[in-house]
Amino acid sequence: MSIAEKITGLRAALPQHVELIAVSKTYPPSAVLEAYRAGQRAFGENRPQELVEKYHALPKDIRWHQIGGLQSNKVKYIAPFVAMIHSVESAKLLDVIQKEAVKNDRTIDVLLEIRIAREASKHGWSEKDLVDYLQTGAYRNLNSVRFRGLMGVATHTEDQETIRAEFTRLHELFVRLGNEYFDRDFDTLSMGMTSDYPIAVSCGSTMVRIGSYIFGARNYL
Ligand SMILES: *Cc1c(COP(=O)(O)O)cnc(C)c1O
Repeated sequence: MSIAEKITGLRAALPQHVELIAVSKTYPPSAVLEAYRAGQRAFGENRPQELVEKYHALPKDIRWHQIGGLQSNKVKYIAPFVAMIHSVESAKLLDVIQKEAVKNDRTIDVLLEIRIAREASKHGWSEKDLVDYLQTGAYRNLNSVRFRGLMGVATHTEDQETIRAEFTRLHELFVRLGNEYFDRDFDTLSMGMTSDYPIAVSCGSTMVRIGSYIFGARNYL
């Protein structure tokens, strides 16, 4: 199947309320363009440098999502154009995003990444640390950051029940935090990738990040 056929098939299979982010990290601009010609407009990258390079090389109506771990000192490179940052995992990073958003005279959409997986290597806030932070109320001063929801990466495992339990828990947290701390803008739950997106969708995902299914196996440098 071609990239275009994969995109079209996924679009047809996903419920209307679930947005597809095509994860193009490590793939060349030509692959992005092929997906673009099939109508795809939202793409995800995990390295800011690659995001910036592709932004400059490709059509300007693409919405670029930063999905991977982000160092504070890299925010300035993507702040002028990024559509959404999925991987916000500290108060410090939020403060930097606020500052860069003001400098660029824009509002930046963010998701708070929650560590739901068992692997110690995975990024994100613990539920407790995030609730502690929200209770300080400091986030309310970040006028140029729009809190859109949560993001999570499940444990890399064949065990479907583990994955389902992690996604279910993330969905519960999403609903609870939305009710207690945020307004109607808090409408996005980014969970699910190539290996687990059907489970994620059945657990309430509103945004899936799919790379290798669309573009083929990645060659990491
Ligand atoms: C690479 C990546 C994806 C996409 O993974 P695939 O298995 O290729 O679909 C999704 N989310 C994050 C955070 C990633 O880094």
